Amino acid sequence: MQSKLISQKAIEKIQQSEKILLVTHTRPDGDAVGSLLGLGLALEEGGHQVQMVIEDGVPHSLRHLAGSDRISRKVEGEFDLVIVVDCSDLGRVGKALNGRPAPDINMDHHITNEEFAEINLVDPEAAATVEIVSRLLDEIGLEVSKPVAAALLTGLITDTIGFRTPNVKPGTLCLAARLVEKGADLSELYRRALVSRSFEAMKLWGLGLSRLEQAHRMVWASLTMSDRRAAHYPGRDDADLINVLSSVEDTDVSLIFVEQPNGNIKVSWRAQPGFDVAEVAKEFGGGGHAAAAGAEISGSLSEVQMLVLERTKLILTGGHYVQS
Ligand code: AMP
Ligand code: MN
Ligand code: MN
Repeated sequence: MQSKLISQKAIEKIQQSEKILLVTHTRPDGDAVGSLLGLGLALEEGGHQVQMVIEDGVPHSLRHLAGSDRISRKVEGEFDLVIVVDCSDLGRVGKALNGRPAPDINMDHHITNEEFAEINLVDPEAAATVEIVSRLLDEIGLEVSKPVAAALLTGLITDTIGFRTPNVKPGTLCLAARLVEKGADLSELYRRALVSRSFEAMKLWGLGLSRLEQAHRMVWASLTMSDRRAAHYPGRDDADLINVLSSVEDTDVSLIFVEQPNGNIKVSWRAQPGFDVAEVAKEFGGGGHAAAAGAEISGSLSEVQMLVLERTKLILTGGHYVQS
């Protein structure tokens, strides 16, 4: 984590700003939406004017969060301060900040973070960006209301897949407990974010799972544009199918290849402890964490699949093995 002095600078900047813009990454997950909403609603309750923007909007599975209807897809107007949350590089934001100067504050937990802002509050030890948001709210002295607590707890639940990832520390659980004390409903938020899925998402899983393959302790599946149409699935994400793949026995790395409307292929990696998939994702222009990484790669599904599986196999056969 950056020194206290630097977060002091962030606090001063926030306190001096009237109009604040908050943005996060495209194809947002629970940590992206939770960090944006948790910070945005708390700043608003603290008297600031806040605009929250996600280029892709809020996915169906996170629309139950209070305030999610206030998140827009486009930036409108001018701001005193721009904060980017849960993004390792500016490309992750999409086009929302095009033509604007570098952001003021970058709050993130990716090991691959490029420190693109004036003030970078980056902590790769944090299990989710919401942990960093929560620390900042404490330091500013902003109240954690029930909607803020629900948003922050959702970020913790989703990025740790229900407190299952090895980066969950006592502090992560203490924060979760504090958020429950503030009124966040753990079982309901858990069910909404991780258990409940739309009928269309299940259909999509079925199509992807019908092409499940394995080799060299890797397991993978793909989702085509035609699968999306057949399942009537509205998102361009994998509907969290990767979390299902990563539960296959005797597997070190699981991958999913998702065809995008622009012709690119979105790849997600998940790895067992001891393997670093951020490194291979970075080679393909993406990033992430040792245990979970992603990249968007141009090429046909079969080309990308072949290339990525070949490079990933290297990690597993010793080329880039990381001791746990
Ligand atoms: P995903 O596979 O999209 O669930 O992402 C897994 C992790 O990798 C998340 O922490 C993402 O923020 C990160 N990630 C995914 N795609 C990219 C990308 N294109 N560039 C940098 N990081 C990414
Ligand atoms: Mn994220
Ligand atoms: Mn995150």
